[in-house]
Amino acid sequence: MAANHQAHEHHRHDEPESDITLRVKALESILVSKGLVDPQALDMLIDTYEHRVGPHIGAKVVARAWSDPAYKRRLLEDGTAAVNELGFPPGPEGINLIVLENTPKVHNVVVCTLCSCYPWGTLGLPPVWYKSPAYRARAVGDPRGVLREFGTELDDDVEIRVWDSSAEVRYLVLPERPPGTERMTEEELAGLVTRDSMIGVAKAKSPKAGARKRPGNGRAEHRV
Ligand code: FE
Repeated sequence: MAANHQAHEHHRHDEPESDITLRVKALESILVSKGLVDPQALDMLIDTYEHRVGPHIGAKVVARAWSDPAYKRRLLEDGTAAVNELGFPPGPEGINLIVLENTPKVHNVVVCTLCSCYPWGTLGLPPVWYKSPAYRARAVGDPRGVLREFGTELDDDVEIRVWDSSAEVRYLVLPERPPGTERMTEEELAGLVTRDSMIGVAKAKSPKAGARKRPGNGRAEHRV
């Protein structure tokens, strides 16, 4: 399936993918005509990864971890089991999901330098840039520069760890819980967890200005 979904993405003129698209289509029609692949099964798989599985699953996992310290411990110990625990279908057989916790001092970034291995079960299909040779090379060579291009500025004393995915091991970043979210419900928290924050190229969103305490309501605000 790794290459298959590329046929279903929008063609970008700055990324010549027409060759791979044609190859995938040719391969698909040969496999179907030889009876090796059931086109309905193929459509079902594509539908699953395009519409049913997506970053909303990872966001629920992260929001639960933010809200429930015991769940967070289990998630960091055994990502696959903890995701299954929430009722999400297990990923493909034999793939181990490892969850990486961001802290004020450590920021994790996920890449696949070889191709486009990605935690499908929790994030769905990878974005086009994740598969680009530029991201795959530069995430390793210049992670701080790549993060800056995503609008993510990290202090110099924050260590960046880059994790290379593989066929057997997929990584999901547990972003830091943003400040000012202490009273938010798990569902509200999930709304702050973006796909990019779980790949590690961004932080989770801050709560909207409107949801913050308005000044002049008589309460003292504590600042660290
Ligand atoms: Fe890969």
